[in-house]
Amino acid sequence: MIGVEKNGLNKSKQQLSLERATELKTRIADFLEAKKHIKKGLDLTEQNKKNRKKIMDALNCTKEQWNDYHWQLANRIADVSLLSKIVDLSEKHKRDIEKVGERYRWAISPYYASLMDEKDPYCPIRLQAIPTIFEDVDKEGKLDPMNEQLTNPAGTVTRRYPDRLIINVTNECAMFCRHCQRRRNIGEEDLPQPASVIEDSINYIAENEEIRDVLITGGDPLTMTDKFLENILSKLRKIDHVEIIRIGSRTPVTMPQRITDELVTMLKKYHPLFINTHVNHPKEITIEAKQALEKLANAGIPLGNQAVLLNGINNDKHVMKLLNQELLKVRVRPYYIFHAKHVKGTTHFNTSVDDGLEIMEYLRGYTSGLAIPTYIINAPGGYGKTPILPEYLISRGKEYITIRTWEGRVINYTNHPTKKFKIE
Ligand SMILES: *Cc1c(COP(=O)(O)O)cnc(C)c1O
Ligand code: SF4
Repeated sequence: MIGVEKNGLNKSKQQLSLERATELKTRIADFLEAKKHIKKGLDLTEQNKKNRKKIMDALNCTKEQWNDYHWQLANRIADVSLLSKIVDLSEKHKRDIEKVGERYRWAISPYYASLMDEKDPYCPIRLQAIPTIFEDVDKEGKLDPMNEQLTNPAGTVTRRYPDRLIINVTNECAMFCRHCQRRRNIGEEDLPQPASVIEDSINYIAENEEIRDVLITGGDPLTMTDKFLENILSKLRKIDHVEIIRIGSRTPVTMPQRITDELVTMLKKYHPLFINTHVNHPKEITIEAKQALEKLANAGIPLGNQAVLLNGINNDKHVMKLLNQELLKVRVRPYYIFHAKHVKGTTHFNTSVDDGLEIMEYLRGYTSGLAIPTYIINAPGGYGKTPILPEYLISRGKEYITIRTWEGRVINYTNHPTKKFKIE
């Protein structure tokens, strides 16, 4: 008798589970449909290859040159007539690029240019790399909304936190992002920091024992040679209180040729070392980027991603979810989504905070927790990264709280004071 009852119970449990599974399927149906229409770098290998051939012909370059990051850096595209051989540009857009170019530097690694859609001016790669007139007409943004000038105690250090800081080693990048939040530093030419300024920064770290985490940033530090980088890493590693070192670099997606075997062999001597990259759209995750990221991961370097929420590029809940899933496939853990600051020349990329909140709402529960970064607003004045979340804690009483689940179920949860225990 018990057996039958048990069977009956099991069946109804299974029935309930099947019904719940059906309900869960409805929660993902829209994403599965939307995903079909989002461009992914890993699906575009053939098209990118064709573009590459066209660019190699225009630049008269060999395969060896293409695969050499020095060549990629030296041949960044910064000329409208060359660019117009690679993608279709209207006469007006060409004039606009010239005009903006007088004010703000632009330059695109031939590799990154090979990811551009020839026809579509709204291609997310093009929007990130090719200037538009909106940069010139921007009256809103400020050059330095974060007051980085006021958080610079020594050398090229930016210090905003008790136990960690940034050293900015160069202003050079493989591609100058149109949305760059450090536009102020970019300037007109490549300027690695002089050895004496780097020396001052390292001395500051050595003299301040509470600094246990050092971020090497720029510009893009991986535009520098292995030798330049190793000089900094080896000096930092000689400081006992520096526990971890991080490098911020966009080269895995803008110039993956930079991630050579020699580089990773050098980097892994300085563990614990972390690299955070900057990927904003699934189209940037190509086979070349995947190989570069895998090389770093195989050297034991934990990889994170810092995306920027950008109007017209990724301010869409489906695009952002797919981006984070694609990142996990190439062993990168989504770390932050930054709300775009009001930086002069970039404000056409700004979104409302509501766009960011909608994205966060649509990640939690709907996809792997590993695919969920923290949404951050940088407090104006340089007062630090501030996390912004949809509300899950609805109210607090004395002995209970009310929470809201990812699907919007409202549930009371008891909340007794913590009691100390004593083992006799
Ligand atoms: C972002 C940042 C850091 C690192 O912050 P985490 O939240 O630890 O990643 C450190 N210093 C400065 C000045 C920063 O802007
Ligand atoms: S790679 Fe980073 S520092 Fe360089 S232009 Fe892009 S956002 Fe700015």
